[in-house]
Amino acid sequence: MSFKFTEEQDMIRESVREFAQSKIAPIALQMEEAKEIPRDVIKGMAELGLMTCTADEKFGGPGLSAVSAGVIAEELARADCTGSTCVYYLVPASWGFLLNKYGTEQAKHEIFPKTLSGEWFLGIATTESDAGSDVGGTKTTIKPDGDGFVVNGEKMYISGVREAVTHGGGHVTIAHQTPERGTRGMTCFYLPLTAEGITPTYVDDLGREGISCGGFSIDNVKIPKHYIIGEENRGFYILHEGYEYARALITVICASAGLKSLENGMNYIKERKSFGKSLSQYQGINFKLSEHYTKLNMLRDWGYRALKTIDLEQEGKATRFETSKIVAMGKMFCSEWACDAINTVMQWQGAFGYSRECPDQAAWRAVRSFSLAEGSSEVMKMIVARELLGKKQY
Ligand SMILES: Cc1cc2nc3c(=O)[nH]c(=O)nc-3n(C[C@H](O)[C@H](O)[C@H](O)COP(=O)(O)OP(=O)(O)OC[C@H]3O[C@@H](n4cnc5c(N)ncnc54)[C@H](O)[C@@H]3O)c2cc1C
Repeated sequence: MSFKFTEEQDMIRESVREFAQSKIAPIALQMEEAKEIPRDVIKGMAELGLMTCTADEKFGGPGLSAVSAGVIAEELARADCTGSTCVYYLVPASWGFLLNKYGTEQAKHEIFPKTLSGEWFLGIATTESDAGSDVGGTKTTIKPDGDGFVVNGEKMYISGVREAVTHGGGHVTIAHQTPERGTRGMTCFYLPLTAEGITPTYVDDLGREGISCGGFSIDNVKIPKHYIIGEENRGFYILHEGYEYARALITVICASAGLKSLENGMNYIKERKSFGKSLSQYQGINFKLSEHYTKLNMLRDWGYRALKTIDLEQEGKATRFETSKIVAMGKMFCSEWACDAINTVMQWQGAFGYSRECPDQAAWRAVRSFSLAEGSSEVMKMIVARELLGKKQY
């Protein structure tokens, strides 16, 4: 499969690059120190149409394709060595895609204007203290209650908790509605984190510190019926479409962060002299450059292929299974390959590479998270193996 970016995608790239290079790149490391993305940066992202960019025009969004969403992700990752704005962008884009496809009109009219303006955050909260990869092991429950539903349980290791609690918004969540039916009895819904009965807690993460990570307990939280996403008891299956969208964007983000780091490294090894020669003149160094550059470009291409497959699926030209497999094949290696490349660049830079001033160490910490976030590398291997062997032989 090969494709060319459209003129519109080239224009998107140009405007996001200009914004990200001038407004995000210079303050990226400061965002980590402050542990937040300045609100004027989020407002700027929203003005460019980046926040929940997958929302249809009907709800005020740009209704971008997955490939176009990938172009934005790539440019943010080039500019933000901490990955914080990438996460702040990719999570609402992916779960906005799910809400746009399966949410009720009422919920979309209520939520999208607020997320599109950058005021609210839209996240994903499936992980619990005792259930991460195994979503079926979720303990949280959702039960019909009067004309709505009542939710009880907890979620943990969730991105954007502080943002949603402080500025408004919520998370796409999943819970057991009919526990005796296992994963066939789970329901997906929107949970506002400002609701009565939500108590947040916070986790001190290793990277992408401009966006918070935390958890929350859910005690008898009432939600209206129109917050249910898709058919009741079908949530487990619906959820995967949001995850796949996020995984494909993450593949492009990892490739971009790695390639940006290699660019930093190339500048360094050309300048830095050791034993009378530039570091770039040693094969022990420049062979590594070739290897990482090749792998990261393969990853970038695969990330766009995954995004294109998602677009094709929406047109009925790719199946659910094709999308899942192609997406998982990219996400499986994205963190590992990007971490490996960035670690090499840190090594090239000697002691400076190990200092907090070096942007590459922040990029390494950010990219490392993606071997877990939105589905671990091992889970990606499970998806591909299951697809190849069939359910009976797996
Ligand atoms: C920075 C960060 C941000 C996150 N943000 C969010 C978020 O916004 N929303 C959200 O819902 N979650 C979020 N997560 C959680 C993430 O989705 C989970 O960490 C991930 O799904 C793995 O779950 P777990 O941590 O419970 O590990 P477990 O599922 O307990 O797995 C532990 C280890 O065992 C491996 N493993 C599990 N089962 C198998 C198997 N069958 N075969 C082989 N290996 C296996 C896993 O790959 C992992 O390496 C985030 C995580 C991080 C690190």
